[in-house]
Amino acid sequence: MIDFHCHLDLYPNPLQVARDCAKWGIYVLSVTTTPSAWTGTVGLAEGASRIRTALGLHPQLAHQRKSELGLFEQLLPQARYVGEIGLDGSPECRAYWEDQITVFGYILSACVDAGGRVLSIHSRRAASAVLDKLEAQPAAGTPVLHWFSGTIREMQRAIKLGCWFSIGPAMLASEKGRALTAKMPPDRIVTETDGPFAQIDGNSAFPWDCARVVPILTSLWDKPPGAVEEQLRINLRRLTRS
Ligand code: MN
Repeated sequence: MIDFHCHLDLYPNPLQVARDCAKWGIYVLSVTTTPSAWTGTVGLAEGASRIRTALGLHPQLAHQRKSELGLFEQLLPQARYVGEIGLDGSPECRAYWEDQITVFGYILSACVDAGGRVLSIHSRRAASAVLDKLEAQPAAGTPVLHWFSGTIREMQRAIKLGCWFSIGPAMLASEKGRALTAKMPPDRIVTETDGPFAQIDGNSAFPWDCARVVPILTSLWDKPPGAVEEQLRINLRRLTRS
């Protein structure tokens, strides 16, 4: 199982969740929302070889945490993965859009200077603006658009730009999410939960809930579950070696 976008540090009992992931052999990309959360979150992965930590600065915190960009740059050499980063164009986040643009642009430039990273990217109501930024900084690395919710046209543009997608049970609960997923290249998809933010039937999603994606892909791809799981494993291997 693969959870390529999960906020391990934000569960009420993060160490227990990390231990359960290690016990079940789940591959986890443990994303952070602030650079100051990096050190503590890396600690959760100690002894768990399948948990990787990503250095992030969430767009919804851009205005409050832009002062941590120096720390971001200082920590970046230690981080193979970057996220959660991106832009959020929701009405409540529009007030600090300029800060979001500054922070996202700064991070992409730092990633270019560092030789590129795998990037877990938030693009809610901002897919075109995110793609503009990625197009301007192609050397920033391999973008993985998490919980993509843009239009089909935006998705086609993302595919042309080389983007990957991480999809989860919450996204696939909607007709739109399933329709987008059906048109994504199967060899550029990994699974995610976005737990504990994302919910399933009113409860926080956990990394093992990624298993719920397999039956949906089985039907969308018209392939047996074993073939779906194998495709996802191959994708993870290719992505993490990029
Ligand atoms: Mn998230």
